[in-house]
Amino acid sequence: MTRIVYVNGAYKRYAEAAIHAEDRGFQFADAVYEVIEVLGGRLVDATRHMARLDRSLRELKIAAPMSQQALLQVIGEAVRRNRVSDGIVYMQVTRGAGPRDFSLPGADILPTLVVLARAPRRGWADELAKTGIAVKTMPDNRWGRCDIKTVMLLPAVLAKDAARRDGAREVWFVDSQGAITEGASSNAWIVTAEGVLVTRKLDSNILPGITRAGVADVAASERLKVEERPFSVKEALQAREAFLTSATNTVMPVVAIDGQQIGEGRPGPIAQRLRSRFHQVAEISAV
Ligand code: PMP
Repeated sequence: MTRIVYVNGAYKRYAEAAIHAEDRGFQFADAVYEVIEVLGGRLVDATRHMARLDRSLRELKIAAPMSQQALLQVIGEAVRRNRVSDGIVYMQVTRGAGPRDFSLPGADILPTLVVLARAPRRGWADELAKTGIAVKTMPDNRWGRCDIKTVMLLPAVLAKDAARRDGAREVWFVDSQGAITEGASSNAWIVTAEGVLVTRKLDSNILPGITRAGVADVAASERLKVEERPFSVKEALQAREAFLTSATNTVMPVVAIDGQQIGEGRPGPIAQRLRSRFHQVAEISAV
């Protein structure tokens, strides 16, 4: 449970944490966010997450609310005040509040910053990873700049809901060429019959996942070959293994796509190995 939320300079009780009614994040989804895993009260891959936040802000010309060092202090406070040992920290930066106007405001508007930390039910992801999850493919109907981590998540929310109603925990979006782009909130991977890891190359259709980068590091340390290229739904259905990556799931085995079993229909050895090694290779830093 989140007890305390940082909002624009103050640590507020959860029920009282609020932003302005004309915040541009609320009006236009004119905002970006980050989610960092917290492990033993420390941050996983904070440097890469901070760099991605910085890039998202620059791409949209949203001012940074504070220095990275100051933001890391706020993150540390949010983790401590919510007594999170294992969980996540969520931060959102919006362009700020002002009378609703499609035109971008001038430089006098101050960005809004919200930071909160939360611990999910202990061990839920490990439990899920034991059996693996099902995913459902759906046409990718998101915008053309999915490389920016914006809060414009309605297509992902609706697609995930449709997947859930079909008994799948995640969506794998498919582009107009029939290639899988990524999940609604994760990156998509397969393992070929030859044991090669395949994930789409970075382009404007996918988020440059921090866990994706970390898994590439783990793969390199394990001398596993990684190919960054598009792969079709057909290729995924014939894969030896499939899995997804995200800060909240690390590596999650995918055992079914559109109701069809992948490989043996249980978590594969490569996905399990990458999952178990992930935190040994990732940057873990105190806050
Ligand atoms: N793609 C999308 C669309 C996402 O929302 C996420 C999670 N925020 C990811 C990929 C995975 O990124 P990360 O590994 O940085 O959590």
